[in-house]
Amino acid sequence: MIEVVHVTKTYGKGQNLFTALDDVSFTIPEGKTAAIMGKSGSGKSTLLHLLGGLDHATSGNIIVNGQDLTKLKRKAMDRFRAQELGFVFQSFFVEAVQTCYQNVALPLEINEVPYKQRRPLVRRALKEVDLEEKINVKAGNLSGGQKQRLALARAIVNKPGLLLADEPTGNLDSATGELIIQLLFKLQRQQGSALIIVTHDADLAARCDMQINIKDGRIQNTAQPQLRWHKKTVIPAVQA
Ligand code: ADP
Ligand code: MG
Repeated sequence: MIEVVHVTKTYGKGQNLFTALDDVSFTIPEGKTAAIMGKSGSGKSTLLHLLGGLDHATSGNIIVNGQDLTKLKRKAMDRFRAQELGFVFQSFFVEAVQTCYQNVALPLEINEVPYKQRRPLVRRALKEVDLEEKINVKAGNLSGGQKQRLALARAIVNKPGLLLADEPTGNLDSATGELIIQLLFKLQRQQGSALIIVTHDADLAARCDMQINIKDGRIQNTAQPQLRWHKKTVIPAVQA
């Protein structure tokens, strides 16, 4: 379960103080998918960075599967991120000069998974995204769609409790983007992870269990679509 409780994030000081997130609260039940929507500059990436432990909240609490991220020191945060979080960005963020193996093995390394256990885990993750045969190819030589599949393999290799995706199809053509989304949902279901996707795509948002709309750093509303195949879930009350 993901609990975001009265989270505020400000940047800068004095006259330059800017409130990017303003008293944001919501809850995402375990294994559920949520879309975060909102115009450019509304605070979506800021929220995802806080959830991913890439930046600190100014106030409030962010509780991921029982662990309050705002209470973790640097090292504990790095460890938590490597164990519990998978991140996919719009800009792929793979290490171009490293091989696919090296890219996917990185979270295992951080997690201190013994060397000999890494290769089978990397192979399995690459197989999930249909990149097994590229294991020794440098990431820089992959196409955009392949790079994003590689990023997905890296995001899931540790079987994280929470997958975060920031406009994961933003730099892809629509057919490739759809493939990435289908993979993302498939892996999310297989692992029972929660998934949070930042997206501009209303159709994609409608495929998630819940939608969170942000405007100027504040939650506008959260909604649940008329679900066709999901069981109906009760979304806990949300602070507006
Ligand atoms: P979105 O992802 O919804 O487009 P962001 O979360 O990236 O929005 O940004 C929200 C607001 O916070 C924007 O106005 C942006 O300029 C501002 N912002 C983001 N990061 C910083 C930063 N490091 N320093 C100052 N302002 C920032
Ligand atoms: Mg953004």
